[in-house]
Amino acid sequence: MFTEDEYRLDFFIEEGFHHKKCEKCGKFFWTRDGSRKTCGDPPCDPYTFIGSPIFKRQHSLDEMREHYLGFFEARGHTRIKRYPVAARWRDDIYLTIASIADFQPFVTSGQVPPPANPLTISQPCIRLDDLDSVGRSGRHLTTFEMMAHHVFNTPDREIYWKDRTVRLCDELLVGLGMDPLAVTYKENPWAGGGNAGPSVEVMVGGLELATLVFMDLVAAPAGAVEIKGERYEKMKNYIVDTGYGLERFVWASNGAPTIYDAIFPDLVRQVADLAGVEHNLDDPEYAEIFAQNARLAGMVDLDEYSMSDLRAKIAGSIGIDPGRLEKAILPMERGYAVVDHTRCLAHMLGGGIIPS
Ligand SMILES: [Zn+2]
Repeated sequence: MFTEDEYRLDFFIEEGFHHKKCEKCGKFFWTRDGSRKTCGDPPCDPYTFIGSPIFKRQHSLDEMREHYLGFFEARGHTRIKRYPVAARWRDDIYLTIASIADFQPFVTSGQVPPPANPLTISQPCIRLDDLDSVGRSGRHLTTFEMMAHHVFNTPDREIYWKDRTVRLCDELLVGLGMDPLAVTYKENPWAGGGNAGPSVEVMVGGLELATLVFMDLVAAPAGAVEIKGERYEKMKNYIVDTGYGLERFVWASNGAPTIYDAIFPDLVRQVADLAGVEHNLDDPEYAEIFAQNARLAGMVDLDEYSMSDLRAKIAGSIGIDPGRLEKAILPMERGYAVVDHTRCLAHMLGGGIIPS
């Protein structure tokens, strides 16, 4: 639906990237690594960053957010304050689910000017779609911060478009100490909130760290382009819509067995202590249980895979008794969920959302 030309950027050519088709899923991707055969996205590739961080230095949430916003500020972007988690300006969604939601529909349609251009933001988002997987998969969260750089181009004024967007992303990752050979940019058309466009997923170590969307289409019944069953036509304005997962960046920087241990180590410890659960990640066998759980859960769709099947597979792969696995993992799954849900509720109550 988008031709290779949409993705053939000067940056990829200058840097010697190869354009390849994934041997497993058949999707196209760009890589510096001439020997790579798969797109980098699970289940085509497993997590490799647990116990072997992607970035050179461990960052906390605050450090990583500041690093990101400062990086884009130094490159001409204005830092914008976060918007509320209750999307009061929208009549189609209740919760702010992405940074671009702050600017839809009035800014993206051109009815009102953006608050700054280009801009950078770290937007707390709430998504409750995967509630049942929170705590169990090692990676799901109800609340996360979407770090972003956004550009609103008009027919009269283009600030930057695909090439500079990918250059900035790559510079950020390499600057954090990522091996340049490790990243793949996977082509994946995007659609949401009445807009669509070409996009690349930024995969490192099996983890999707960012999505770079080039939003230049708007929903139109007679439009010439079809994406995911909907029809679209070209927009007058064209918008750089990026999303970088703050929590995933922190996880990638420390390689902890779960995202919860990476981003809330102190709260996880406190909840475990209060519950009388010994959560000792210095014990290699114990840490490996959670690491292997996250690796295997990363490879399957949890909706289609029963937890007991997953458990049996993990027990087999570590070579421990399934009973011992269950005993170690079950209390902490609940502890992780308590910590995640507490942060989500704090955001909701702080944003004026109250129980009915
Ligand atoms: Zn693939």
